[in-house]
Amino acid sequence: MARPDYIICLECESEVEDFTWREGAIQRASCEVCGNTDPDAFSLPEDFDQEFDDEEADEAALETDDEEDKEDDEYADNLDDVGSEDDEEER
Ligand SMILES: [Zn+2]
Repeated sequence: MARPDYIICLECESEVEDFTWREGAIQRASCEVCGNTDPDAFSLPEDFDQEFDDEEADEAALETDDEEDKEDDEYADNLDDVGSEDDEEER
């Protein structure tokens, strides 16, 4: 595995560029933010992002649904100029 540009401090979730990479693993690392120097307490950006993606994937799906609804409303408004008045009555 190639050396990543940075690693993630699991203590404070900061990006840390000051680390020693050897044989596909973190040998030494030092977080300037919280002072963490335990190599086991750092994560590769890839691993960290994957954990994030699982959570954001669900939220992104929900947001996409909302936006689609809005686009439908706006599209209807464009077809009919009095559409905005209809929106107020619905609320
Ligand atoms: Zn830290």
